[in-house]
Order: sequence, then C-alpha cells, then structure tokens
Amino acid sequence: MSLLPITLYGDKILRKKTGKVTEIDNETIELIRDMFATMRNANGIGLAANQVGVDKQIFIIDISRVEGFEEAKPMTIINPRIIGRSEKNNKMEEGCLSIPDIRVDIERPEEITITFQDVDLNEHTITSDDVFARVMQHEYDHLQGILFIDYLTEDQKKEFKKDLDNIKNRNMEVDYPVTDPVR
Ligand code: ZN
Repeated sequence: MSLLPITLYGDKILRKKTGKVTEIDNETIELIRDMFATMRNANGIGLAANQVGVDKQIFIIDISRVEGFEEAKPMTIINPRIIGRSEKNNKMEEGCLSIPDIRVDIERPEEITITFQDVDLNEHTITSDDVFARVMQHEYDHLQGILFIDYLTEDQKKEFKKDLDNIKNRNMEVDYPVTDPVR
C-alpha cells in the first residue's frame, strides 16, 4: 500500500472528464486501496481517481470521521451516474484536498439518486441525503472535470484568485504528498 501524491488546482487532469471503467484488474484494486490510504492520510472524506492522477471513473467516500456519521461505511463508487436530484437545495461548507485551505458554502440539491458499480462491477442504485449526498456530488463533479470553486460568484472568484494562484504554484504549505507544480 502506498500514499499517492494528490493533484492540486492547476493540474490538467482535474479538468478532464474521466474514462469509464470496463474491467477491475489487480491494478484497479491496488489503486482503490492506495486511494483509501491517501485519503485517510490527508484527513479527507472523499477522493476521486483524477485527484491521484488516474483517468478513471472511480471515487471513494468515508464520512465516518464526520460528527454524527461515525457508523457510515466506506464506499467505492465506479462509473457513477446521478439520475435524480431533489428540487430542494441546501448550503454546506465544502473544501477539497486538491484546493487546500479554501472552504466555502456551496448550494446543491439536498438529495440525489445515483447508479453506480461496485468493485465487482455489480450495479446499485441508492438515494442519499445530507453529508452523503454532498460528498457524492462533489466527487461526482471531479469525475466530470468540475471543481467546487466553479460554483463561486464572480466576486468570490476574485476574492480567492490569489489563494488559487498560490496553490497552482505550490506557494503554500500542505501536510500530505502532492504533485509537482505544472510548468
Ligand atoms: Zn474535491
């Protein structure tokens, strides 16, 4: 098991729509294991494959470190598709391991229904709400090349521009392994 460097804002793969997984080979199993180790080391609650530089529709979630969700089981989500969104939205503060130290309230649907495959490529459909729905939407976006900062207002984007540039140039401290800056 190894810790993988996490891609940061500015890395091109974060803006790419990731490719479908068609078979689960040993390499994929090892990737998922490494993703869990990498996420936990960075105290994250979700991680998408392109956040460790891999162009695959895979994300993992473990919200058990969130207060009130201690019993939540870790999940591996492959080839997800959001097939339903509640009309009702809510606001929750979001952050991202690829955009360290920026946390903003983001509005999203409160509840979503998602179809996905597990590590045996069996199909599942689940409806989730609260923190689960929130993390799922954030990670699902990653696989489409979308980042939570894309939802900021123009004023907020201006406010965070310097911080984002600093992340891009690695002109900041981060206490987990990250990729080298894009030249
Ligand atoms: Zn993220």
